[in-house]
Amino acid sequence: MRLVLLGPPGAGKGTQSAWLIDYLKIPHLSTGDMLRQAALHDDPTGLEVRQFLQAGRLVPDPIVLDIVDHRLRELDCANGYLLDGFPRTIAQAEALDTHLASEGTPLDAVLELAVDEHRLVQRLTGRGRADDRPEIVPQRLQIYRRQTAPLLNYYFHQGILRSIDGNGTTKQVQSHIKRIVDRIGANQS
Ligand code: AMP
Repeated sequence: MRLVLLGPPGAGKGTQSAWLIDYLKIPHLSTGDMLRQAALHDDPTGLEVRQFLQAGRLVPDPIVLDIVDHRLRELDCANGYLLDGFPRTIAQAEALDTHLASEGTPLDAVLELAVDEHRLVQRLTGRGRADDRPEIVPQRLQIYRRQTAPLLNYYFHQGILRSIDGNGTTKQVQSHIKRIVDRIGANQS
């Protein structure tokens, strides 16, 4: 199953990804994780990535697309994957579509985790990750609204958007996601 998990920072994408990849036996493709890894290297790409991460800004598309393109070609992605934190811009979504069309491997669904903004701020300020510095939280949410939220409309029009109320408990959100992926699985078999 090929899935995208979409939602603002603090929506619970990491938490929900953790059980979902185990449940579906698919690799977890988190561009946040990949970029944090890339930022550990002292090469030009690593240095550039580090600056964007620290500023809470989106890493430029060419860098992200290069990393994702390589990852999608790895063998473990042949039977599906969960993309988490990618795409984050319309340009990234279009590049992904071009790749998927050339391989003849369309996405099965885009799962949106929708969470009220005041809850996101509470969660993000309590998380303590380097790019969750309280002073850049509003900026990250604004970047989501401006650059990533338009993807909801993009995937709605493709007919593959599935929106999930992410305000509930982890278990409630989990059972909602499970219902959706079970239905997709049943239609495929
Ligand atoms: P995440 O772990 O998904 O919250 O991502 C952490 C940070 O990595 C983001 O704030 C961005 O700076 C960067 N990042 C992750 N995914 C992308 C992406 N698809 N495009 C650009 N930047 C990204």
